[in-house]
Amino acid sequence: MEERIIILGSNGQIGTELAAALREKFGHTQVITSDIRPPQIPEGYSLFEPVDVLDREALHGLFTKYRPTQVYLLAAMLSATGEKYPRQAWDLNINGLLNVLDLSLEHSVRKVFWPSSIAVFGPHSPKANTPQYTVMDPNTIYGISKLSGERICEYYFNRFGLDVRSIRYPGIISWKAAPGGGTTDYAIHIFHDALKNNMYNCFLSAETALPMLYMDDAIRATLDLMDAAPDKIRIRSSYNLTGVSFTPSMLAAEIRRFLPDFTISYADNDPRQAIADTWPNSIDDTEARNDWGWKPAFDLSRITEVMIGNLSEKIHIEDGKSI
Ligand code: NAD
Repeated sequence: MEERIIILGSNGQIGTELAAALREKFGHTQVITSDIRPPQIPEGYSLFEPVDVLDREALHGLFTKYRPTQVYLLAAMLSATGEKYPRQAWDLNINGLLNVLDLSLEHSVRKVFWPSSIAVFGPHSPKANTPQYTVMDPNTIYGISKLSGERICEYYFNRFGLDVRSIRYPGIISWKAAPGGGTTDYAIHIFHDALKNNMYNCFLSAETALPMLYMDDAIRATLDLMDAAPDKIRIRSSYNLTGVSFTPSMLAAEIRRFLPDFTISYADNDPRQAIADTWPNSIDDTEARNDWGWKPAFDLSRITEVMIGNLSEKIHIEDGKSI
């Protein structure tokens, strides 16, 4: 069966690269991107429709026009921004999801992807190798909305048979599109500042360990999960998934392999520290490995190498353009 895919919230950090991967896999004419802001890269304009996921009528029009077989919902307000606008974060993260699930049922969409986050865990969750099933008491509005979203997804699967699939992404590291206001964004900013200024003032403390994943791994995981036979998907809330865990000081040491004079300092009292302190240091993703064969390919040293290589080229090109 021919797939027709709609990505909602396609112009952010993950959507920009997921759209490219889906176009590559299914063909340019089969992938419709949609967002409330314009694309970050020129290729993003192919089959782009501006739609707000909170506008149910507009969303209905989009589904009617393209009759999607798969829908990827990436529109959300992330952790750090969510703490500034908690009511809007709840509205977008929950009502956007409910709109998409209801319309997916109404339009007989075959598969829906919706990402959750390691933010579903909280101060009483075990910090090391956090298991799939454990205490979950998130205390950010982002984490609360993601945990509620997980329960809603599982409910729509059990109650209505909607084939919803989900991953609890850790911090995603990438260089093509800018990150969207999360607590793990330092692991991207650090590369930009290292290459431009040879120094970085980190908003998290030196020893704050967080689980991370390189974008290529995140995209491959997403495509593999969506390709898996329905009976392999035993978890319909959201799968734990991880690539590698590290601290800002470990990352700085890796960067010094390429830029020996790089220096890092640490800011006091950034509100993102309080968020990071409630999140896992590392994640146990045994279920994803067993159920649908997940295995990460990028460790810290490889991530550092590809980030420095790709970003130096990108910055070089951008500097060239501005001259
Ligand atoms: P992002 O902020 O970079 O992108 C989100 C996109 O949604 C933006 O382009 C934004 O314009 C769009 N959007 C916002 N409101 C909208 C609306 N009302 N209607 C339509 N579009 C709207 O976020 P991202 O990093 O690409 O994250 C995508 C998903 O992955 C989110 O659900 C996020 O919670 C989840 N996630 C991301 C990470 C990460 O490290 N990036 C980690 C865990 C989970």
